[in-house]
Amino acid sequence: MNDKTTHFGFEQVPESEKARRVRGVFSSVAQKYDVMNDLMSGGMHRLWKAFTIQIANVRRGERVLDVAGGTADLSRAFARQVGEAGQVWLTDINPEMLAVGRDRLLDQGNITPVALCDAEKLPFPDNHFDLVTVAFGLRNMTHKDVALAEMRRVLRPGGRLLVLEFSQIWKPLAKAYDVYSFKVLPWLGQKVANDADSYRYLAESIRMHPDQGTLAGMLREAGLERVEYFNLAAGAVALHRGYKF
Ligand code: SAM
Repeated sequence: MNDKTTHFGFEQVPESEKARRVRGVFSSVAQKYDVMNDLMSGGMHRLWKAFTIQIANVRRGERVLDVAGGTADLSRAFARQVGEAGQVWLTDINPEMLAVGRDRLLDQGNITPVALCDAEKLPFPDNHFDLVTVAFGLRNMTHKDVALAEMRRVLRPGGRLLVLEFSQIWKPLAKAYDVYSFKVLPWLGQKVANDADSYRYLAESIRMHPDQGTLAGMLREAGLERVEYFNLAAGAVALHRGYKF
């Protein structure tokens, strides 16, 4: 039996437990996810995603995979850009998050394929996508190395991977950020979503996530090349980019 443990926020849990616990968090927050994102980030998550969309530079006809795409903020933009000849797949491990994302795509008039799947086992052929994105999803995954290798596998040679994720904030701001994360976020979660625990997990999972340099190393380790990253909001968030050649 596999008795290895991993972190779920600051807690150590058996590896086999983590996906279930993460699923619990996102099932609980799905309906309030978008409004909470706006409140927690003061709307800044829109700017981080807009930057990601700009760097993605999607062209008509391209094939795009949005991993852990949740409520489809990125997929909706990509669906507009690829046009009829292209394709965008919205995927997520969580049915509640995926349902909100699918509905938002439909509301926009996009009949985009969705797939309920684990990023660690993507149901797509090798060398298929021009672009793979994962926004605020990677830190929730049990085996990040496996998920990154999967994302690389489904990219076509020349394709690019974009990873948008919380990261390590500029040191002088760390204390204030801690107060915000561990006091304000759970309070806000309780008030708005009646769920302090999920937002405590959010803060903890951010602290457990590898910093910019470490994550860049992990992308290289997974076989991605020309890896670089862009710090956003003083490093509170970073966008990593790597190519498959
Ligand atoms: N990408 C969306 C965004 O930026 O708003 C949603 C991000 S949300 C913070 C994280 C998402 O990752 C959740 O929808 C969750 O279900 C998904 N997720 C967590 N672990 C996953 C896994 N192993 N495979 C696929 N999706 C996963």
